[in-house]
Amino acid sequence: MEKIKMTTPLVEMDGDEMTRILWGMIKEKLILPFVDLKTEYYDLGLLNRNATKDQVTVDAANAARRLGVAVKCATITPNRQRMEEYPELTEMWRSPNGTIRAILDGTAFRAPIVLPCIKPVVKNWEMPITIARHAYGDMYKAVDMATDEPGTATLTFKGESGAEKTLHVQTVDGPAVWQGQHNKEESIRAFARSCFQYAIAQKQDLWFSTKDTIAKVYDGEFKRIFEEEYETSYKAEFEKLGIAYFYTLIDDAVARAVRSRGGFIWALKNYDGDVMSDMVAAAFGSLAMMTSVLVSPDGTMEFEASHGTVTRHYYRYLQGERTSTNPMATIFAWSGALRRRGELDGLPQLVEFGRRLEAASLETLADGVMTKDLLPLVEPGFQARGVDSEEFLEAIAARLA
Ligand code: NAP
Ligand code: MG
Repeated sequence: MEKIKMTTPLVEMDGDEMTRILWGMIKEKLILPFVDLKTEYYDLGLLNRNATKDQVTVDAANAARRLGVAVKCATITPNRQRMEEYPELTEMWRSPNGTIRAILDGTAFRAPIVLPCIKPVVKNWEMPITIARHAYGDMYKAVDMATDEPGTATLTFKGESGAEKTLHVQTVDGPAVWQGQHNKEESIRAFARSCFQYAIAQKQDLWFSTKDTIAKVYDGEFKRIFEEEYETSYKAEFEKLGIAYFYTLIDDAVARAVRSRGGFIWALKNYDGDVMSDMVAAAFGSLAMMTSVLVSPDGTMEFEASHGTVTRHYYRYLQGERTSTNPMATIFAWSGALRRRGELDGLPQLVEFGRRLEAASLETLADGVMTKDLLPLVEPGFQARGVDSEEFLEAIAARLA
C-alpha cells in the first residue's frame, strides 16, 4: 500500500512520562505505516526543556505560528515535588502550555469524545459540547481586600494623558470586602476571533454568553466586541456554511445547554469557562476522553489531550507492567492535526486518513475493546473487555489496515 504524502510539515511537540510512551506507540502503530509523516520535531520533555533553558518551548511555539498546525504531548509542569524528583533541574520551569498560549495568543477549546456505549449524565446530549474559555483577566487578575470600619471605596483610572475618571463604588457602615477587576479590549478581540475561526473550522454553531443585563458596561463590551467581529469579518462565511452565531445571557445559555442535543461551541468568560468546562467534562464521562485545541486569532491550531502525563501509570510501566492507559485523546490530537494539515494544504487523502483513524478508534471501542478506565462507565449490559494500551492500539491498527 502506498503511504499518504504530506507537503508541509506539522509541528510535533513530544512530552513526558506515560503519554510520551503512548506517543511513540501511536506513531509506530497508527501513523507511520500509513502516512509519509513530515514533522518538525521539538522535544518538550522536562529534561530537554531544562537542557535548553526552556528555549525549546519558545522555538516550538514559534514553529507552530510559522507552520499553522501543531500536535502536543502532555508535559510535566514542575512543582516543588518535581524539583526533588529531578535534582538536575536548574529552575522550576513555567508551564509549557502557558508559554505556548502566550506566544500564540490562543484560546483553548475542550471537547469530549462521545461514544454510544457511554451515555452522558445529561441523557439528551447526543453530540459533544465544546467549551472555549477566555484565558485572560477578570477575577483571575483581580485585586481584592477586606476593610473593617465604615467608609467609602472609589475606583479611579489615571490615563497617561493625565485625564482621570473616578467612580463611587459603595459607602459601607461596617466591615466589607472589595474587588477590582479588568480585561483588555485586545484580549477580548483575540478571544472572539479564535472562537469564530474554530466554529468555521468545525462547521458548528457558536454560542456566547455573559451577564450584560447586570454588568452593563463590562460584559457589554464583551458582547459588543463579539458582535463587531462577527459582522465585519465572519458573518458571510457563517452564512455560507449554514452555521449560526448566537448570543444569550449566561443563565439562559445554561438552561438551553442542558436541554440541547449538544453539537455546538460555547464561548465563555474566564470564570464561567472554568466552571462549565468541568461540568461538561464530568457529565460526558472521563478526563481520558477529553481533547483540547489551542486556536490563535490567525487560525493556527495546536492539538493535544486535556489530561496530564498520567504519572501513576508511568511508574508502574517502569516496573515492567503493561499498563492500560487510555490513548484516545492523544490519538484524536494526532488525527485532528493531520486533518487540519490536510485541509490547509488541499490534501483530501490526509483529511480522509484523519477521519478513518478516528472511525477505527471509535469502532474498536464500539466492539467492546477498551482500556480499563472506561469499563465502569459503559452502559449496563454492554459487553466490554479491558485490554492494555498496546493491545488496544493494535486492535485499532488492524482495523485501519
Ligand atoms: P493526569 O496525568 O491527568 O492523571 C490523573 C489521573 O487521572 C491518573 O492517575 C489516572 O487515574 C487518570 N487518567 C488521566 N488520564 C488518563 C488516561 N489517558 N488513561 C487512564 N487514566 C487516566 O493528572 P496528574 O496526575 O494530576 O498530573 C500528572 C502530570 O501531568 C503533572 O506533572 C502535571 O504537571 C502534568 N499535566 C500536564 C498537562 C498538559 O500537558 N496539558 C495537563 C495536566 C497535567 P488512575 O491513576 O486512577 O488510573
Ligand atoms: Mg475548573
